[in-house]
Amino acid sequence: MNTSPASLTAADLDAADPLASLRGRFLVPAPDPAHPLTAYLDGNSLGRPLAATAERLATFVRTEWGAGLIRSWDEKWMDEPTVLGDRLGEVVLGAAPGQVLVGDSTSVLLYKALRAALDHQQAADPARCEIVIDAGNFPTDRFIVEGIAAERGATLRWITPDPDAGVTSEDLEPVLSASTAVVLLSHVAYRSGYLADAAAITGRVKQAGALMVWDLCHSVGAVPLQLDDWGVDLAVGCTYKYLNGGPGSPALAYVRSELQSRLRQPIWGWMGAADPFGMTEAYEPAGNIRRFITGTPPILAMQPLQDMVGLIAEAGMDAVRAKSVALTEHAIRLADERLAPLGARLASPREADARGSHITVDHDRFAEVTARLWELGVIPDFRPPNGLRIGLSPLSTSFAELEAGIDAIATALAEME
Ligand SMILES: *Cc1c(COP(=O)(O)O)cnc(C)c1O
Repeated sequence: MNTSPASLTAADLDAADPLASLRGRFLVPAPDPAHPLTAYLDGNSLGRPLAATAERLATFVRTEWGAGLIRSWDEKWMDEPTVLGDRLGEVVLGAAPGQVLVGDSTSVLLYKALRAALDHQQAADPARCEIVIDAGNFPTDRFIVEGIAAERGATLRWITPDPDAGVTSEDLEPVLSASTAVVLLSHVAYRSGYLADAAAITGRVKQAGALMVWDLCHSVGAVPLQLDDWGVDLAVGCTYKYLNGGPGSPALAYVRSELQSRLRQPIWGWMGAADPFGMTEAYEPAGNIRRFITGTPPILAMQPLQDMVGLIAEAGMDAVRAKSVALTEHAIRLADERLAPLGARLASPREADARGSHITVDHDRFAEVTARLWELGVIPDFRPPNGLRIGLSPLSTSFAELEAGIDAIATALAEME
């Protein structure tokens, strides 16, 4: 067999894919003329449901909710945010038990994590009043730190990385100092797909006496993580992207054990208190990760994600990453071959080690092209000003689907000329 990558077709790659059979676990939608589906290249915005999830939800309504009623809080639900958190820690985060929680949106957990980190730093040393973030970070990350800076009188130190790549250790040197309180970066950049060197950056930030907060939205479930080994302080991530938790499924937060008793998150509520049902007069935070909870946890919305965590455990994170790399490599090959001749430009790293599970290609007509593609059931994402983002969800995307998608992009682009 000729294994030179250039000669491999999508059919060869699908035939050789050890995870190919797992695609069959995802829900196959009934044909719907209003929503044709040829190639889904947006699993990094909203992952596809697993067929088992439809069953799980129906059973949940009938049994835990319908039959157990309020008793299910005592029997199961109170612990669900941390039981599920521990499972995520084991399967996808590289985190020992007791450090991960599921609940709230990513934006709200980012706020809690950053405020807790900043307040802790300032209490220890009022001179540590700066938050470091990059200008290429996702809007919510930038808005949350701007809000916190306004609220607490902190100063923002901006990094402006190469938009086709992302933040490197070298980019941090000019902004780290004895005034740095906390650094917030995305592990995988939402636009370029650049995969930051989390171990090196975390080490450098901590050496400077600052706390490191990672946004894992575009890496969790697609890129192996070792939060404990990397010495990460806090992290927040989405569960509706590569963890297929469904629209608006709650986010995850990681808080390193040693920090937990020293950090106070700013939204005090009864469910994060040491004794929620003691109906106490004053707020006393729980002594563990539960202090990051505020109100009643979104139990119903936590159900679907359990199926994907199970599937990833079955496949193994290393195999998931190998498939992800093979998909993005093939995507780049096809983009070079079929889109570059039409004037499109790769806006993502070419080295697999520096890339998450999506690529972005720029062209001035891509806003119109994306609208046309959606009508045809070819679903990439558009990211301003001119980027078409091709998300490759390792367990649900086939090489043939990717190739059909890129062919449709090429055809639509050619028709615009
Ligand atoms: C998707 C995404 C979010 C989403 O935040 P929500 O509060 O869930 O809407 C935040 N940060 C990054 C980097 C993302 O990619």
